[in-house]
Amino acid sequence: MISKADPLRVLHEVFGYDRFRGAQEAIVRHVVEGGDALVLMPTGGGKSLCYQVPALCLDGLTLVVSPLVALMRDQVEALRQLGVEAAALHSGVPLAERRLLERRLDQGDLRLLYVAPERFQADGFLDRLERWRPVLFAIDEAHCVSQWGHDFRPDYLALSVLHQRFPEVPRIALTATADRRTEREIVQRLDLGQGRVFRASFDRPNIHLSVTIKDNPKRQLLEMIRTRHQGQSGIVYCQSRAKVDDLAAWLSAQGVAATAYHAGLDADERSRRQDRFLAEDGLVMVATIAFGMGIDKPDVRFVAHVDLPKSFEAYYQEIGRAGRDGDPAHAWMAYGMDDVARTFAQIRNGEGDDDKKRSDRHKLASLLGYAETARCRRQVLLSYFGEELAQPCGNCDVCMVPVEDYDGTEHAQMALSTIFRTGQRFGAGHVIDVLVGNRTERVAQLHHDELSVFGVGRALTAARWRSILRQLAALQLVVVDVDGHGGLQLSETVRPVLKGERRIALRVDPTRAKARSDRPRDDHPLSGGEQETFAALRRWRMSEARAQGVPPYVIFHDATLAAIARTRPRSLRQLAEIPGVGATKLERYGDGVLAALEESA
Ligand code: ADP
Ligand code: ZN
Repeated sequence: MISKADPLRVLHEVFGYDRFRGAQEAIVRHVVEGGDALVLMPTGGGKSLCYQVPALCLDGLTLVVSPLVALMRDQVEALRQLGVEAAALHSGVPLAERRLLERRLDQGDLRLLYVAPERFQADGFLDRLERWRPVLFAIDEAHCVSQWGHDFRPDYLALSVLHQRFPEVPRIALTATADRRTEREIVQRLDLGQGRVFRASFDRPNIHLSVTIKDNPKRQLLEMIRTRHQGQSGIVYCQSRAKVDDLAAWLSAQGVAATAYHAGLDADERSRRQDRFLAEDGLVMVATIAFGMGIDKPDVRFVAHVDLPKSFEAYYQEIGRAGRDGDPAHAWMAYGMDDVARTFAQIRNGEGDDDKKRSDRHKLASLLGYAETARCRRQVLLSYFGEELAQPCGNCDVCMVPVEDYDGTEHAQMALSTIFRTGQRFGAGHVIDVLVGNRTERVAQLHHDELSVFGVGRALTAARWRSILRQLAALQLVVVDVDGHGGLQLSETVRPVLKGERRIALRVDPTRAKARSDRPRDDHPLSGGEQETFAALRRWRMSEARAQGVPPYVIFHDATLAAIARTRPRSLRQLAEIPGVGATKLERYGDGVLAALEESA
């Protein structure tokens, strides 16, 4: 009879947590009982525990397949900090070390072994694995098996061999990819038809969602960081390498600790900068989308987009890197007319047949609808991913600073007619001059002051018209920059609007002053004194991390330090009550924490 430890006890003693989150408990019990499972959970949802707890309940070796060395390294370090025997096996491990590791495996000394999928092609690996008598297989980032998805890894296809060779060993596959097509492909390719699918909600309620209309994006970003995220870690996404370098340098000059990351840097430099981001508290990483996969840093407090991402899916994946630790975090995007024009042009000039382009345009339009919405952003976001949120979330900019929307059909007609009458050749600036009746030199020269539309829109400000034109572009009624000169044209879909058969809802952007009151919700802010204690604990953690050469968050998460700052435990026994303080960490760090508290008193 094989002994099985109790999952709740493992959770408490090893990880220092009191209870499972959401579906974790059901998943863990199912796997411990020998069932196969596919787990679909958003980034930060707590997937790792779904296989790590079973691994420690079962008596034997758990093999974890993971696509990236950086991910393995992080996970192994975090487990070692918890006192769990874990190791990684990949091509970067020197031969001598590998031999040593294999010896330990032969002796049954390890509980978790992380391997890259390429391992299965290596000579004799499956035979050795048989010797090590695995009790569980975990397949992380399981969407890599999908040829349709964006992270396809051919080596993942070979993983079906696991089930053929070890039919009695349970398997758990995990991914943060939500769509049904990928789900079906995983089940089929990994032969998980007999298993259970656990689909969690894809909501990340701790991430505050906000979208700002661009006027001076650099300044807006700086203000956002200074007023809401001073000294915190964040990621800023830009489209081009040049812009990344420029923005990082500018932020640094403004006194924000920032560095840049993109595919134009050589591999060594990239990994140095990535390591720096992981190792430091409060560094801002300005990056292209080349940065992200494998970034498991739990305390990224904000993800900012200064350029529009290419799809809703990409956006959701990118903002998912914020707030994995469950603490308040912020997804901030600045967006404007240029983004609309540029992104549609990219699709037009990009690869793929008409079908692909139509689908890309549709995805982009959904993202623009989200940017321009007057409804709760989370409701819009989740409904795109097939989930309904019954109530407005209370943690997005629209919920916090309500946006007025109205029947803007008449305004849309005015704008569309003006574009038509001026010949569909001019940019927003000139069109607005005509709308509000601004007799500029150019207007006079072109005799546009003699048009019937001259001044029809004088009841609204130029800024309002700018917003309206942007919304019409987002609705694909207006096409921007077909010929590269920034001119506005009408699309084929305007006819019903001009005839009044299609009503158009428009929003009134909140004023800047109003928009300032939008900020991430923090239900448990630290008081002044607690802040100081928290800062002292972070300094202690930093010196501890430096001494060991590990990222600070593998020692304790911010949430744990914040709880310690709040309760100021006076003994090891009181400290053990704090979530995130398991037995091993208590033994290793308990005295250090109590001393740091003593000093900051
Ligand atoms: P994912 O792999 O799904 O992105 P992780 O496994 O990294 O998410 O977990 C995200 C964070 O949530 C981690 O910091 C983890 O320690 C924390 N966490 C997970 N489960 C629990 C739990 N039951 N109680 C408290 N914290 C948890
Ligand atoms: Zn909301």
